[in-house]
Amino acid sequence: MDMQASLLDRLFAAGHLIDTGVDGLYGRGGVFEDVIQRFDALVSAFGADQQAEVIRFPPGMNRAHFEGSGYMKSFPQLAGTVHSFCGCELDHVNLLQCMAEGGDWTKGQEATDIVLTPAACYPLYPTVARRGQLPERGGIFDLQSYCFRHEPSKDPARMQLFRMREYVRMGTPDEVMAFRQSWMERGQELIASVGLPVAIDVANDPFFGRAGRMLSNNQRDQNLKFELLVPVTSTEKPTACLSFNYHQDHFGKTWGLTTADGEVAHTACVGFGLERVALALFAHHGLDTGSWPAGVRKVLWG
Ligand code: ATP
Ligand code: MG
Repeated sequence: MDMQASLLDRLFAAGHLIDTGVDGLYGRGGVFEDVIQRFDALVSAFGADQQAEVIRFPPGMNRAHFEGSGYMKSFPQLAGTVHSFCGCELDHVNLLQCMAEGGDWTKGQEATDIVLTPAACYPLYPTVARRGQLPERGGIFDLQSYCFRHEPSKDPARMQLFRMREYVRMGTPDEVMAFRQSWMERGQELIASVGLPVAIDVANDPFFGRAGRMLSNNQRDQNLKFELLVPVTSTEKPTACLSFNYHQDHFGKTWGLTTADGEVAHTACVGFGLERVALALFAHHGLDTGSWPAGVRKVLWG
């Protein structure tokens, strides 16, 4: 049996994750949720001094904002749109008949104004841009959202719907670089404090197509993305549990975000994959949270 299937099967058997019949789409049991909430609270404790503005968006975003973000240029393969039935009564009759015959009833669904959120920070940039110039000290935000990515997999660490906790910094290049540097250090402390091994490496996003390969290389060459890796289903291929991203002026230019001095704002974010951290904890400390090391229990449950 391969390691991935066995961790997923063990999580199902323990009731920590619940099979829905779709790879990457799972229910969560109470113990799993408790671990997620405890870790989420630990992130808040580590970030408390930042006095970040807390904002929670639902897992769907304004389609116009999604379009404006350029996501379809880079990651068309991952996006998920929300479609609905918008027809008349006759269309409804045809729809039901199509379903009864086992046909593709989804063909008639029409796009709504909502797209599933691909990363917790996407709805933030246009929201903050609408407020006008950033204040003197720039901006710092605390986000968390379920995110959707169409990447079905048997690897429990690659879900289609998962939660991302984020801190986002907006300001001058120096401010956002200092923020990212400090979170690369804090992130390692945070993960070590719950008894997990940490390693940091440069990384890239899965930009689509042949032109995407160039963007990926460029991102690596410029050290724009780092990941904090923890072995979850494999030691040779550890899983990215946190990521530290410097967007330069990409979102600033895209949305017209400006600093108090009127310069185009730079942005950076640290993202915590909450399910991935929970999976790493179960993989390293066992499925029974009651028998986790006392030090880890103390950090999470006090
Ligand atoms: P990967 O390289 O593994 O696909 P990523 O680079 O796409 O990860 P980011 O876009 O940086 O990840 O997202 C921030 C964090 O969200 C990641 O560090 C990870 O912990 C988590 N994450 C990303 N994709 C998934 C997924 N499919 N399932 C669960 N967590 C995820
Ligand atoms: Mg990915």
